[in-house]
Amino acid sequence: MTDCIFCKIVDGQEAASVVYEDEEFIAFMDAFPLTEGHCLVIPKAHHVRLDEINAKKRAKLFSIGHKVIKAQKKAELGVQGTNLLINDGKAANQTVPHLHLHLIPRASGDLIKSIPRILLHISGLFGFKTSRATLDSQAEKITDHL
Ligand code: 5GP
Ligand code: ZN
Repeated sequence: MTDCIFCKIVDGQEAASVVYEDEEFIAFMDAFPLTEGHCLVIPKAHHVRLDEINAKKRAKLFSIGHKVIKAQKKAELGVQGTNLLINDGKAANQTVPHLHLHLIPRASGDLIKSIPRILLHISGLFGFKTSRATLDSQAEKITDHL
């Protein structure tokens, strides 16, 4: 889809800090992370909602998510837990209409710090982009443990 930002990442027209890629899926750093190390896993084909992919692909989406979570934990980013999140549809605050699984690293007591970013995400404004150099360096640490 031509004006979809995630399709542009898949096609290499937009930069992304990639942590994982195969023929059907790609995982990369969220450019406006809710917490340090926030990754997104997406199918390469343009689908908006979770029910647009079949059960096998849904299982693969979560299986890749699980692998990335294990790598995030090993990457010395201070990860103690993870929020796995799919905002499935506009009513659920989906702002990018290309299916994606959020992997949001969490540490005890970090919620207060993240509240302004959560509000910016829900509004679709997102706030300031994290620098490409920082995202690349985090992606490299995560990829090293995949
Ligand atoms: P949603 O609100 O649709 O569940 O999440 C969209 C996510 O995409 C947000 O977490 C936002 O930070 C992220 N995002 C938006 N634009 C870009 C971009 O250009 N590159 C990357 N890597 N992430 C983006
Ligand atoms: Zn797309």
